[in-house]
Amino acid sequence: MKKDKKQKSTKEKVGLFKCIRVTVPFIIKSAPWLFVISCLVLLCQAFLESLQIYVLEDMFNGITELANGNTTVIAVMLAILLWAGLYMASVGLLYVTNYVDEKFGYTSANAQLIQCCEKMARLEPIIFENTDKLDDIEKATNGRDRSRDLLNIIKSLVLFTLPYLVIVSIYLIKREPLLVVAMVLIFAPTMVQQWAIKKLYTEKEDKQAPLRRKQGYYAECITDPKYYKETRLLGGYRFFIKNFRDLLTSLIKLDLKTGIKKELLFFCTTFISLTGRLVVYYMLFRFLMNGRISVGEFAAVFSSLGVLESQLHNLFYNTFSSVSEGLPYIENYVRFLNFPEMSGKEVDLGENIEIRLKDVKFAYPNQTGNALDGVSFDIKPKETVAIVGENGSGKSTLIKLITGYYKPSEGEVKLNGNDTRDTSFPSVAKRLSAVFQRYPHYAMTLRENLAIGDISKEPTDEALRKACAMSGFSPEEKWLPNGFDTMLSREFDDGVGLSGGQIQRIAIARAFYRNSSIIILDEPTAAIDPIEEARIYGRFAELSKDRTSFIVTHRLASVKIADRIIMMKEGKAVEMGTHDELMALDGEYKRMYDSQRQWYESNENASTDIEAEAVN
Ligand code: ADP
Ligand code: MG
Repeated sequence: MKKDKKQKSTKEKVGLFKCIRVTVPFIIKSAPWLFVISCLVLLCQAFLESLQIYVLEDMFNGITELANGNTTVIAVMLAILLWAGLYMASVGLLYVTNYVDEKFGYTSANAQLIQCCEKMARLEPIIFENTDKLDDIEKATNGRDRSRDLLNIIKSLVLFTLPYLVIVSIYLIKREPLLVVAMVLIFAPTMVQQWAIKKLYTEKEDKQAPLRRKQGYYAECITDPKYYKETRLLGGYRFFIKNFRDLLTSLIKLDLKTGIKKELLFFCTTFISLTGRLVVYYMLFRFLMNGRISVGEFAAVFSSLGVLESQLHNLFYNTFSSVSEGLPYIENYVRFLNFPEMSGKEVDLGENIEIRLKDVKFAYPNQTGNALDGVSFDIKPKETVAIVGENGSGKSTLIKLITGYYKPSEGEVKLNGNDTRDTSFPSVAKRLSAVFQRYPHYAMTLRENLAIGDISKEPTDEALRKACAMSGFSPEEKWLPNGFDTMLSREFDDGVGLSGGQIQRIAIARAFYRNSSIIILDEPTAAIDPIEEARIYGRFAELSKDRTSFIVTHRLASVKIADRIIMMKEGKAVEMGTHDELMALDGEYKRMYDSQRQWYESNENASTDIEAEAVN
């Protein structure tokens, strides 16, 4: 199948207000008391800071009057002490704010992390096949942190900057209204430039996210124990590191390009505001000379202008620009939180599940052509079904649809009459166990590795031992020095390293440990030889007689034992029947069987052994 280039990514529009509506309440709810305390402290800070302008005026007027002999030293000292007290109090509050904010940040970051993990677990699985959505997920992680920054910005804007500006503006209007107008004029042009910054960062993020994902993958190929043996053997290290470096260069280039554009914008803004500041200083000087303001007012306004300017600077340059920069990331986060989740009603499918597929079609996202193209069949409870066909013929996709993991694009899949589209996946999963081509191997003990197969039941030694026996090993094997408590990874002290075959047996034992109605082996045996595969599948079929079982393979040595064989070709179920029926048909199955026959015949004795073992 080809990637569909025509298909455009249709991204949901989000915007600032939706970002606030979706993220802010959750963050506040994660630690409401800490939030309230930090708000109150911030408000106090705003008052303390802004009152300083009044106290400063008093202080300087006092000093002037003292020089003219109109007041006492004590009165001036008191004014100085009051100013110093206010200053100390606002510094003290700063420490309180930092402490409370740190605690609040930590608590809310954890709450959001858990929210994301839970969301990931609820996502509709097909999302993981969609590269656009994977990029969104990648970007969402970044947006999660930015959403907390956004709340901090809103908080300090509403509870600090605004009250401060209002109080100081009232002061200025009372003394000299022209000063307020001048202040506003200095910073107005910056507002206009903010949308440009947002656009700049949206574009950058859209280009960088796919590159970062690829880069992460190459890093994994180099460092992950899963790959590095092969990577070294093939000399692939150089290939991966070159790709990694190339991507890094592209990422840095994009960062630089955006950075330069942003700095240029800021340079222009700084120039405009510097001119404005000079105008304000000139006005202030003229007002003092004209006698429109007193020396105390001049000193108070002059010294407050620094604070006022840094507040406005902070508001326009840092606050607004960090919102503009962060918004595209937060929008991705919000989009991620809105991704479709697994839906459908909870049903109890019971022990005996009848599976019906009717003209099922399925296409992967962003691909042209169907991976399944009109598949229909019924499967009775407890049947042993082999799904066979060449690589890429649609076997694994068919399994994912039968189990309701993916929903059909057309047609229907019904489990005991329940359409998988309307049935919750966990209700099906409860009745299901499966080992796939790429089965995980957890860095935990053997006991935990098996128990995770069904966390709803108590992992007694008896139940675990039974599952191991079904998979053809016992906890007393030499390769398991501490029995069930053997740590199955060298990453930990006393851990053991396992061979591919041993890992696979554990994966199959885990599937058996679960009391499921349907059990699936989707070529977990692809890495081993056909005869060993036939041995495992033979035992599997025998032990799964009381459940519906699916054997998926492209090697036909192991499928004679199945009640029914479904031959897949190019997304279609082209032949169906027992081994003998399909051989008699003289079609695709026979052709494939004959092409592999040579292999089995030279191992004739071995396969007789297998059949004998399967029956025992
Ligand atoms: P099989 O298990 O028989 O080897 P699959 O069911 O894995 O085959 O694949 C069937 C077809 O669907 C193939 O053409 C394959 O390229 C395509 N396919 C499988 N997985 C994906 C995916 N995640 N995205 C796009 N196409 C896919
Ligand atoms: Mg497959």
